[in-house]
Amino acid sequence: MQATTGTQAATASFKNLKCKECGAEYELQASHVCEFCFGPLEVTYDYSNLRNTVTRQTIQAGPNSIWRYRKFLPVASENPIDVGTGMTPLVRSHRLARRLGLKKLYIKNDAVNMPTLSFKDRVVSVALTRAKELGFSTVSCASTGNLANSTAAIAAHAGLDCCVFIPADLEAGKILGSLIYSPTLMAVKGNYDQVNRLCSEVANTHGWGFVNINLRPYYSEGSKTLGFEVAEQLGWELPDHIVAPLASGSLFTKIYKGFNEFTEVGLVEGKKVRFSGAQAEGCSPIYKAFKEDRDFIEPVKPNTIAKSIAIGNPADGIYAVEIAKKTGGNIEAVNDTEIIEGMKLLAETEGIFTETAGGTTIAVLKKLVEAGKIDPEETTVAYITGNGLKTQEAVQGYIGEPLTIEAKLDSFETALERSRTLERLEWQQVLV
Ligand SMILES: *Cc1c(COP(=O)(O)O)cnc(C)c1O
Ligand SMILES: [Zn+2]
Repeated sequence: MQATTGTQAATASFKNLKCKECGAEYELQASHVCEFCFGPLEVTYDYSNLRNTVTRQTIQAGPNSIWRYRKFLPVASENPIDVGTGMTPLVRSHRLARRLGLKKLYIKNDAVNMPTLSFKDRVVSVALTRAKELGFSTVSCASTGNLANSTAAIAAHAGLDCCVFIPADLEAGKILGSLIYSPTLMAVKGNYDQVNRLCSEVANTHGWGFVNINLRPYYSEGSKTLGFEVAEQLGWELPDHIVAPLASGSLFTKIYKGFNEFTEVGLVEGKKVRFSGAQAEGCSPIYKAFKEDRDFIEPVKPNTIAKSIAIGNPADGIYAVEIAKKTGGNIEAVNDTEIIEGMKLLAETEGIFTETAGGTTIAVLKKLVEAGKIDPEETTVAYITGNGLKTQEAVQGYIGEPLTIEAKLDSFETALERSRTLERLEWQQVLV
């Protein structure tokens, strides 16, 4: 069942939906495009109310999850679905920073976000809380993998029926990572953009709550918490520069909105943060629009190992380009080999195993530093958005093998000696 209007508790600060293009306003229902101009709808808030009711102390007294920022999120409920999402570590990088020549580098580690080890748990926690408020009993999504995992898991927790759609050629870990929660899983023979088109039709005919289609304005607000947390974890300060991956571009634009909201209500001092975006060369329509200085996106057909960010026709791509330009940031793309090297580099220097999207971010970070586009003195935050155990295929064949030995000391000593000799030889090759 779908209700047409949302109830709103007296304590909530969200006001309405507003078209990002023409400014037309709508009630807080399940819709995502403007009836007049087809622009995307975004949630608005009463910032003077927030300024008067939210302080650093009220936030710190809240739960150790994204719901400490509940007043900045589009839910009316006092009891949102809380599966411990958010408040992931912001790790000060020493070894990667030194390797790249940066002085103040941080890794925001959503590879360990709860419950399904990607940043998508943030957006889904918000979307499903709102879906319940709007009266949906079946929830769904068009996914590149992680979103299906999150939707299936959090729907299971909340007792909602769930049917999720993915491209059929996803990594085994992403498929298993949905099936374990027993949703209906539709593996569509096609790429993400085809999955998404199909889902738009299903949303119209079945009246389900699609987290990233008809519930998209609520869903996308969840990504602001990646901005809020970094500001709070830096001691209520904004960084100088952020680097984040781009799929639809939504995450990127919402970190920006999060920083601006904290500034607007006086929780942090305003500052110009440079926004840099990362794409895989095999699916880089946002990078191309940025580089060619275009104000429109030319859709592409994805072909990359970074499947979680392989969206050929990105809904928020043009807004991401705008933000990178007006903040003095950049958008870069890297190839599949660089992505694998990025995954290995982060693992070897920081002990963080990220998936291909994170490899893309680290490879782009490296490329931007080498090109002089990130100043060594800047406080820089790299957003790691997913977990490497879900994309094991990507690194298979690039990470060596275990040394199999007998359960005997001499077998161990022989193997150890051989591996040290091999290491020395490799080093000699590097040196010549
Ligand atoms: C979905 C996803 C992104 C980017 O999402 P958008 O908001 O669509 O740009 C980044 N990293 C990972 C791991 C993802 O699953
Ligand atoms: Zn409009």
